[in-house]
Amino acid sequence: MAPNELVERSAAAIAAAVNAREISATEMTQATLERVGAVDGDVGAYLTVLAEDALAQAAAVDRRVAGGEAPALAGVPLAVKDNMCLRGSRTTCGSKILERWIAPYTATAVQRLLNAGAIAIGKANCDEFAMGSSCENSALGITRNPYDLGRVPGGSSGGSAAAVAAFEAAIGLGSDTGGSVREPGAFSGVVGFKPSYGRISRYGLIAFASSLDQIGPLTRTVRDAALAYDAMAGFDAMDATSVDRPVEETASTLRDDLRGLRVGIVAEFDPAALGGEMERVYRAAHADLQRLGAELVDVSLPTADYGVPTYYLIAPAECSSNLARFDGVRYGLRVAGNDVRAMYDATRSAGFGAEVKRRILIGTHALSSGYYDAYYVRAQKARTLIADDFRRAFATCDLIACPAASCPAFRFGAKSDPYSMYLMDYYTIPMALAGLPALSVPCGWVRPDDGVHALPIGLQLCAPLFAERLLLGAAPAYQRATKHRDAYAPLPERLTA
Ligand code: GLN
Repeated sequence: MAPNELVERSAAAIAAAVNAREISATEMTQATLERVGAVDGDVGAYLTVLAEDALAQAAAVDRRVAGGEAPALAGVPLAVKDNMCLRGSRTTCGSKILERWIAPYTATAVQRLLNAGAIAIGKANCDEFAMGSSCENSALGITRNPYDLGRVPGGSSGGSAAAVAAFEAAIGLGSDTGGSVREPGAFSGVVGFKPSYGRISRYGLIAFASSLDQIGPLTRTVRDAALAYDAMAGFDAMDATSVDRPVEETASTLRDDLRGLRVGIVAEFDPAALGGEMERVYRAAHADLQRLGAELVDVSLPTADYGVPTYYLIAPAECSSNLARFDGVRYGLRVAGNDVRAMYDATRSAGFGAEVKRRILIGTHALSSGYYDAYYVRAQKARTLIADDFRRAFATCDLIACPAASCPAFRFGAKSDPYSMYLMDYYTIPMALAGLPALSVPCGWVRPDDGVHALPIGLQLCAPLFAERLLLGAAPAYQRATKHRDAYAPLPERLTA
């Protein structure tokens, strides 16, 4: 079988073929490693490729299948964002401070996928400690958008998104704190799904902002996201914020239409504000939802505008506390100094990049005595108001539809001031603050004025807390009816452009 034919299959199709013994997990893994060898020099999705380990895992899956087991993700190639631990592998968080750190244990989410038969192909690039929206904040490598190599793949889970878009994996694991799974999903033309806060264990995910961080899959189909979610979701005693309530299986409830569903269109997120081609794409998406049987209803999120400022107090505050542990004593880099204090200073100065330092400074300031009430406590109150807005909106609708991002993938260096980068998560932050499940699904293409390649756009769908089954059940109807992903091919056509 031609290697391209194999790597372009969905996770569902790969697992079915491996379990039916039409292909082996070993063949699938070899085909994926070949693809990585052929394109990753240009894409740069992976920081570490685990060829030997992957082939050993594949052989083990083949033995399981031969023994009569049928693992749900048998032989499915997986890209793991490099802020998640995988025992014995380098886990860098895209930072110099952890450049050579080897994880001593495996994150629960990763382990559950491996138990289900997935094969970890490698560790994917990301913005340093997941702070950023383009992957440009990685200290260890550049990741390019497979639809236009001159542009970013989105971030912070840009490596995982690019790997899935370029057929270097069928499932990418990302983490979403304010949009880091959904925004790179939109930029790279794949599905990015963030479950409800607490649904997937954070054990082994290196913490950025603990009250927001949530692991989620990037895949080419919503169905694959559902399969990955089903394998990962559920209580874990190792994560104190993991929710102890039954998880409903989602992959078997995928719908063909949206009849009977009320989809809320957010007044404050009117596509008219985006104008041009973006507006055209989102209006067409609304019409498609309606054509599939959904009833569109107007809803309002009056405090959504406070999302970005609220997030940029809470997230840095938590990051300043979480990143205090990287001081040269226990983990990663140590730069010598004359005394302990000088060693801390030298280590953190050399180990952290500019954006991480900026966040630590903002967060430490926001938490300092005298400012705590004015900043941090106030932000927590705003967070409650934003969550209340969603609760009110969901009284009149089942799902909310809105843009995933305000623009398509931009050129490297285009968002050079921090504030314009922060605004990239304008549409994704409110859901993160409210802890809600949300996903981005490809909904069309635009041709930017400053480029020749068509670029993918994502529609964001959001559901009430713990309504993953509703969300993952409805989204496939839209994806199957519209098939926007298939309009343009990623690499290798663009390698020569
Ligand atoms: N872009 C946002 C930030 O820089 C969100 C990142 C994320 O979700 N990890 O904080």
